[in-house]
Amino acid sequence: MENVIIIGSGPAGLTAAVYLSRAEMKPLVIAGTLPGGQLTQTTDIENFPGFIDPVNGFELMFNMQKQAERFGTKILNETVTSVSLSSGGPHEITLGSGEVKKAKSVIIATGASPRWLGLDSEQRLMNKGVTACATCDGAFYKNVPVVVLGGGDTAMEEAIFLTRFASKVTIIHRRDQLRASKIMGERAMKNPKIEIAWNSVVEDIVGENAVEGVRIKNVKTGEISTIECEGYFAALGHIPATELFKQFIDTDSQGYIDLKTNSSNTNMEGVFAAGDCADSVYRQAVSAAGMGCRAAMDVERFLEATE
Ligand code: NDP
Repeated sequence: MENVIIIGSGPAGLTAAVYLSRAEMKPLVIAGTLPGGQLTQTTDIENFPGFIDPVNGFELMFNMQKQAERFGTKILNETVTSVSLSSGGPHEITLGSGEVKKAKSVIIATGASPRWLGLDSEQRLMNKGVTACATCDGAFYKNVPVVVLGGGDTAMEEAIFLTRFASKVTIIHRRDQLRASKIMGERAMKNPKIEIAWNSVVEDIVGENAVEGVRIKNVKTGEISTIECEGYFAALGHIPATELFKQFIDTDSQGYIDLKTNSSNTNMEGVFAAGDCADSVYRQAVSAAGMGCRAAMDVERFLEATE
């Protein structure tokens, strides 16, 4: 029986692991489908405190993992396929290998995954020009036009990054105002390789076996046009990875885990949550790390009280 299983290995999960392993709780981290989480797919991070110069997302997460391991955290590069949680525990976590792990407490730190428009053509052309990760795939689009969907910070960041490779980047946004922060929006708008198609929604992706263009509709004028491109980068925000837990854990209408006020406690005793899976508001690496710290301290108190 484990003291605590942490599901997820982004900043929330690994910060919880650092705290719990320093407290000699020997946490077990199930790293999940994307070890290190979303930050491993980002380029330079400029707003994580402690770094004067930008830090690479992959490097930051690699270091967090090493830091957690230094104090005795065990990390399994496995996915969780199902869980059976019961108030007060023990909790059962079934892994992709079929193995079942038991734990006195659980921290859910599963993060969130990219949102898609839900077009058939997105599925058909997935990884044939359709992607949600500029960092991973940007370099495949040298000297060709691409589009980026969305008006948030991610869309701006990805569009700016893509200008290193692409001949032109068109941001397609459904409104006439960006959701992105002013500084990121201005950086994108100042870039001569970036154009913004305002008030525009994607009708379909053109191309049978590869992306050849995107058909868009201007929602104000009704005008339909096609943007020629070879890459389609979705930056439409994220969906919390909480499906596995919904049978046991209360979530809000968007699927984010509900936490009790001023704590990381879920509705179930001994089950805690941290990071983007429980945060629809801030969703920052540093706020996720802070939530991981809180969850670790709550687990410590819970285990002390029950033993
Ligand atoms: P956001 O939720 O902030 O933005 C998602 C964008 O996608 C919005 O512009 C939204 O449009 C659009 N969108 C969503 N669904 C649809 C749809 N069905 N059709 C058309 N458009 C759609 O997500 P981000 O990933 O950009 O950012 C998440 C968080 O991470 C934010 O807090 C952000 O500030 C932060 N972040 C910070 C960075 C940094 O500081 N360096 C970098 C990246 C992210 P609409 O605006 O109309 O709702």
